Amino acid sequence: AALVAGSVSTIAEVWGDIMRAAGAAERLLELLNSKPAIRDPSTPVLPSSTDMASIKFDNVSFYYPAKPDQPALDHISLEINAGETVALVGPSGAGKTTLFQLLLRFYDIFEGSISINGLDIRNLSLDTLRGMIAIVPQDPVIFSANALENIRYGRPDASDEEIKHAAQAAQAHAFIERLPQGYDTFLGERGTRLSGGQRQRIAIARAMLKNAPILLLDEATSALDAESETLVQQGLASAMHGRTTLVIAHRLATIQNADRVVVLEHGRIVETGTPNELRRQSGLYSRLAKLQLDIHPDHAPQ
Ligand code: ADP
Ligand code: MG
Repeated sequence: AALVAGSVSTIAEVWGDIMRAAGAAERLLELLNSKPAIRDPSTPVLPSSTDMASIKFDNVSFYYPAKPDQPALDHISLEINAGETVALVGPSGAGKTTLFQLLLRFYDIFEGSISINGLDIRNLSLDTLRGMIAIVPQDPVIFSANALENIRYGRPDASDEEIKHAAQAAQAHAFIERLPQGYDTFLGERGTRLSGGQRQRIAIARAMLKNAPILLLDEATSALDAESETLVQQGLASAMHGRTTLVIAHRLATIQNADRVVVLEHGRIVETGTPNELRRQSGLYSRLAKLQLDIHPDHAPQ
């Protein structure tokens, strides 16, 4: 119960995920320092629908305060239709994580606009905006609480049945049932330690429970065992179903399953197309495939 307290949980949830997404303590400090600048609009607009969401980045440029000489994103324009899955790929430092942070409005942009369902996100309340977005971070946080509470974090008012239903869809139910006390098993540092693949499936269950129209997914870079890999992919597939998904993709399989691939480099979009189109553009695809092969020798294309 200490985990969840009214609207604070929405913010706490995003903070928790961002802490992991950003990965480093100094980045968190920067987020905290930058926070006062981000405010609710004085008269927030209510979207007419929060069931589906289209996203539009229109000529977006952004510099981190600590790096004013180098744009993290440089005139990015990208439209994502409701229900579409877009894979973001590109080398480290290309701006992929920044795109997520800007959509969540952890920073305001300097130029251009970001809108959801045609509404500039600066005109939405932060609660509305962040309520429309579920995140599966690269390295999800597991709290010192039982399995049930760990998933409930996705939506504090969810019933036990809804939690188990989400766990099933996320391919987490079976392993939780096999824990010593099932859903009552204490997890976290002083409880049962979960594998990387299990932690990801808990995070997917949280996202399913939140049932937001937008899913931001930062795919794990670390290798999972074969069983977890398959289960995580299945869990993700059901989480993505019917949602607008932006996935930072590190695996070829994820890229191939996307509706569209956007390749970022130095904060700019350098290529975009369907996976098949990209494959035909031999120069880029071979570079991309090589990149994937370097990271995941076990995911080589046949
Ligand atoms: P990616 O996720 O594609 O690896 P990022 O979005 O994390 O790339 O980073 C884009 C650029 O912004 C990089 O040049 C990175 O060094 C810089 N950057 C990211 N976060 C910060 C930050 N908090 N402060 C300053 N520069 C940052
Ligand atoms: Mg990143």
